[in-house]
Amino acid sequence: MDDLKYGIRDKRGNWAPSEPLEVAPFWSGKFNQIGQWLVAYVWPHNTIFMLVTLAYWYFILPDWTKMKELTWDWSLWLYAVNAAGIFVMYGSVEFFYYFKRIQGTRFKYNPNFPSDKPSDVFWFKSQNIDNFLRSFLISIPIWTLIEVFTLWCFANGYAHWVDPKDHWLWLAVLIFLVPAIHEVHFYCGHWLIHQGPLYKWIHSIHHNSINPSPWSSMSMHPVEAAIFFSEMLWHLLLPSAPFVAMFQLTSTAYGAIVGHIGFDKLELTDERAMNSHAYTHYMHHKYFEVNYGADGVVPLDKWFGTWHDGTKQADERMKERFRRKKERLNRRKASSTPAE
Ligand SMILES: [Zn+2]
Ligand SMILES: [Zn+2]
Repeated sequence: MDDLKYGIRDKRGNWAPSEPLEVAPFWSGKFNQIGQWLVAYVWPHNTIFMLVTLAYWYFILPDWTKMKELTWDWSLWLYAVNAAGIFVMYGSVEFFYYFKRIQGTRFKYNPNFPSDKPSDVFWFKSQNIDNFLRSFLISIPIWTLIEVFTLWCFANGYAHWVDPKDHWLWLAVLIFLVPAIHEVHFYCGHWLIHQGPLYKWIHSIHHNSINPSPWSSMSMHPVEAAIFFSEMLWHLLLPSAPFVAMFQLTSTAYGAIVGHIGFDKLELTDERAMNSHAYTHYMHHKYFEVNYGADGVVPLDKWFGTWHDGTKQADERMKERFRRKKERLNRRKASSTPAE
């Protein structure tokens, strides 16, 4: 496919889509676009996460009497499944698009591939090895820990587990709201770890990958991973059911790849391609202090002035915000330095 029909490439080789990013249309009064938005809301990403959830529900989760006890056997089983699932899903995008490079740099935002740029900030000077090890040794164990704890709470009646037969409508609404819960939880936790020393201490590890690839998705400090995966715990507080909690978790874990694919479209045939929805979070990795949330289902970035839709105007607004921040910091520094 010709990616220049859909975007522009600058002199340095960076590709950007020509269409600006849009928040969910009901927030911007574009009600005629709701139908189209609904289709994109369901297909393909959330349908894939739902299928993964169904696979966990019917084939992976042990029975409830077993999950009443906290034991190593079912915990390790869940870790093995989580690790295998991520290895297959993230690994196949890495293998075909970053190792085999079947699409070259078509629709790739950054023309470079991480493996071509060794850097001292990474373990073994390799972004790939660093990101891979952090995912499998830190983030996936923490994901599993939160999953085991939540299921154990449900099994023991420490949750507000509502019966799907009596409350099917509420549970259907809740399933539909899972991406919105994700966006609010992710925005708040993510914004928090961008503040002051928390950034340096916790979140800078994730941001070492300025040019992210799928393995970067879960390359996190343990505290960040705990905040990230804890959105499943909302289902212990809300009237909910373990299936919905599992959908929340699989959307978080398997969905983390979305912002880190690095390509705007994944080509399926010569004429057809799948939209990745990666650009919002790609810009966050590029500019750091924009787009803390996701695609704007709940557009907190827009409401708090940190939304970047890829346009020149948004770029100007961002630069102005950074300039004001610098001035503020300089003023603070000057007032704290004693006069001679
Ligand atoms: Zn990221
Ligand atoms: Zn960040």
